[in-house]
Amino acid sequence: MVKTIKGIAASDGIATAEAYLLVQPDLSFDKKAVSDVDGEVKRLNDAISKSDDELTKIRDIAKVSLGDEEAQVFDAHKMILADPEFTGAIEQQIKDQKVNAEQALKDVSDNFISIFEGMTDNKYMQERAADVRDVTKRVMAHLLGVDLPNPSLIDHEVIIVAHDLTPSDTAQLNKKYVKGFVTDIGGRTAHSAIMARSLELPAVVGTDSITKDAKDGDTIILDGLNGAAILDPSDEDVKHYQKLASDFAAEKAEWEKLKDEATVTADGKHFDIAANIGTPDDLQGVVDNGAEGIGLYRTEFLYMQSEELPTEDDQFEAYKKVLEGMKGKPVVVRTMDIGGDKHLPYLPLPEEMNPFLGYRAIRISLDKQDIFRTQLRALLRASEFGKLRIMFPMIGTLQEFRDAKKVFEEEKAKLVADGVKVSDEIQLGMMMEVPAAAILADQFAKEVDFFSIGTNDLIQYTMAADRGNEHVSYLYQPYNPSILRLVKHVIESAHKEGKWAGMCGEAAGDNIMVPLLLAMGLDEYSMSATSVLRVRSLMKKLSTADLKDLADRAVNESITNEDNKKLVEEYLK
Ligand code: PEP
Ligand code: MG
Repeated sequence: MVKTIKGIAASDGIATAEAYLLVQPDLSFDKKAVSDVDGEVKRLNDAISKSDDELTKIRDIAKVSLGDEEAQVFDAHKMILADPEFTGAIEQQIKDQKVNAEQALKDVSDNFISIFEGMTDNKYMQERAADVRDVTKRVMAHLLGVDLPNPSLIDHEVIIVAHDLTPSDTAQLNKKYVKGFVTDIGGRTAHSAIMARSLELPAVVGTDSITKDAKDGDTIILDGLNGAAILDPSDEDVKHYQKLASDFAAEKAEWEKLKDEATVTADGKHFDIAANIGTPDDLQGVVDNGAEGIGLYRTEFLYMQSEELPTEDDQFEAYKKVLEGMKGKPVVVRTMDIGGDKHLPYLPLPEEMNPFLGYRAIRISLDKQDIFRTQLRALLRASEFGKLRIMFPMIGTLQEFRDAKKVFEEEKAKLVADGVKVSDEIQLGMMMEVPAAAILADQFAKEVDFFSIGTNDLIQYTMAADRGNEHVSYLYQPYNPSILRLVKHVIESAHKEGKWAGMCGEAAGDNIMVPLLLAMGLDEYSMSATSVLRVRSLMKKLSTADLKDLADRAVNESITNEDNKKLVEEYLK
């Protein structure tokens, strides 16, 4: 039966493939007394040997598809399974306590995990707790006869179906086989959605029910343009979507022609379209799509893809690569924005009721200054290799900006004293994403070199609506006059002080938003690399002089997000 499941369009494109459910199975069990102890030990050993075979397979595939480093974690898991201290203890527990293998496995593994986690002065051993947890899950699944999803074993084209995907799940998807993903929860500006766009994978999020509706192997058409997943499509559906996909491809081919052109409006005004990146690997997409710079380098991904805090040298190499790769075009690097939905396994953060309102971004950097200083030193050293701009995330008060700037100046002075070459032209700016700062933009503008408006967070905080929660996704309202007024105030405040203002939130690449932003005089537009040419094509057709009146109405007369959406849609017709 054909079934269309509606969701939020999170990343453009159409894909058709088999569903692959990335869903964690239920691993609950009852504690049982056993009389056949030998039989129970055999069950355990069978589960261990199946787990080991599976890990060998996963490791070999991961080596080819993801690289040696990513594959190493599976070797570590195999070592735990081969360690008699671990497996022998489980066997002994079955014999001593006459309990089922599941219970013995849990007892021993809980014990190991708490010992490892307790080794607070030995980070390496602390990290082993996560490995024990993973291995235990695998053996438990075999004991219970349920399948664990193994995304690294995927060897044919699939569409991933999941409740949610963390940014690190997303980073591990093998683009050769994964053609898109669809999730139960999430919003357009959740980080997994942002990553899907940089990987150029069609994605639909926030369907509420896809993990219940789809089964492994079902054919799915994923419509990332309109936000829908079609299960078991009819021949007619297939035809319809083939047409949509080929229209989209044709449109893309038209945009391609603008790759080497500057972004100039119909009335001859030049604006910069830059790209957002997460890692140096995204550089190719930036170059291929003809971006005029990088407007947001989310450096936290460097930290997230590492097993421990990246060293100054590791960071230096990454920043240098990006700066050199951009050949003198501006690169705005944002200092680490951990917290919210982005975590580091090796940097345990306190459990929080409201992580997005909690210990995040600059708040962590100013608190854990050793981490911050290392990052700033790496950036300063790399500054010689291109046109570097640095900005701080989540600035809410002037004091935070001043404190961050002071740390920057201190590290710069130290490097200069040590004879290290450092550029004197580094601009220091901030993300405008906390409403308190946006309201006070006129004051901030006196002290910063630039603003970059982060609408993903600015909207989340202004509307009091979690950006990753599909139940309140209707409150993601970039055209709401309240948001437009803040944006306008930020841009005007920057200009009054002779500074520039950009936008690196998702709204910068939104067709409805762009005409309004042009009228407000926003200088730089930074977006997923795959949006650059679409927006360039749109801007070429628009004349800023004509848009003034439209923007005035949107900011001063309209009342709702919908009013403004209609207003601009009418205009674009
Ligand atoms: C934003 O908040 O708009 C932004 C660009 O930053 P991030 O999405 O990484 O929070
Ligand atoms: Mg943000």
